[in-house]
Amino acid sequence: MTSAEQGVLLDGKALARKMRGELRGEIEALVAQGLTPGLDVVLVGEDPPSQIYVRNKQRSCERLGIRSRVHRLETTTPQSELEQLIRDLNQDDEVDGILVQLPLPKGLDAKPVLELIDPAKDVDGLHLINQGRLLAGEEGLQPCTPLGSMALIDSIGYDISGKKAVVVGRSNLVGKPVAQLLLQRNATVTMCHSRTQDLAAEVGQADIVIAAVGYPELVKGSWIKEGAVVVDVGINRRDDGSLVGDVEFEESQKRALAITPVPGGVGPMTITMLLYNTVDAAKRRRGAHLNV
Ligand code: NAD
Repeated sequence: MTSAEQGVLLDGKALARKMRGELRGEIEALVAQGLTPGLDVVLVGEDPPSQIYVRNKQRSCERLGIRSRVHRLETTTPQSELEQLIRDLNQDDEVDGILVQLPLPKGLDAKPVLELIDPAKDVDGLHLINQGRLLAGEEGLQPCTPLGSMALIDSIGYDISGKKAVVVGRSNLVGKPVAQLLLQRNATVTMCHSRTQDLAAEVGQADIVIAAVGYPELVKGSWIKEGAVVVDVGINRRDDGSLVGDVEFEESQKRALAITPVPGGVGPMTITMLLYNTVDAAKRRRGAHLNV
């Protein structure tokens, strides 16, 4: 790459559009054979961002022909009532995916609720069984943001095998599962976190950088190795209301082979992979006899 060139944009919106188009065809084929995939979302309380996320998920489902239902519960809902709802959804054969929108209001404990979800319906891939399957390299439902990140890297035909990948952030939601997915694809993976001693040096060695921290522009453009692929998962709001990622975008793009924008990179892919997981869960659970 010459200095006048810039890394290509890993356009999450465009890839999401393409993948959703393919998924729509698959859903039509399922519906024609009597199987309409269904996603049930549980929303407790009035958290404004959660309301928006849930609305977006519902709209995306409807556009593709996935049946979607939102269960809205009061902030004061007792833990036992929330858990009973999950048990009921587990028993309902028309429910293929169950998603509990986080965070839950104060006073409710998310952990036992997530563990109650039938792993076969756990479209967020956060159940311990599914996390364990991922660690063991076995099939199961996998978390949406890591899947979306991998799909973005694959979209440019990049060969992950044997490359050095650095994952910044070690959450159960993003950092740890994306590191496992990279490892499955034969990358040599380093995980960095808040106690990492020399983040610049670690990132500087990486052919693939995944940043999932939640700290604006923590990863500097000058750290990025020439020709690296950079996936910025972070979404941070500036004082002026605009969004910025965990990576310094412009400087990084000058060095990178490819880089995701924020917004418009990983974000649209996360919902797409939720739709994908819902269809996958439906096929695995009740579509064995179908022709898709
Ligand atoms: P988290 O807070 O659970 O985890 C953050 C991680 O960053 C921790 O493991 C911590 O060790 C690490 N960290 C903190 N400070 C660090 C430092 N100085 N150097 C290196 N590592 C450091 O966050 P999360 O849920 O993994 O989310 C991370 C970011 O990704 C957030 O901005 C979140 O909004 C965003 N996110 C985006 C999507 C999407 O669809 N685009 C989905 C999930 C999360």
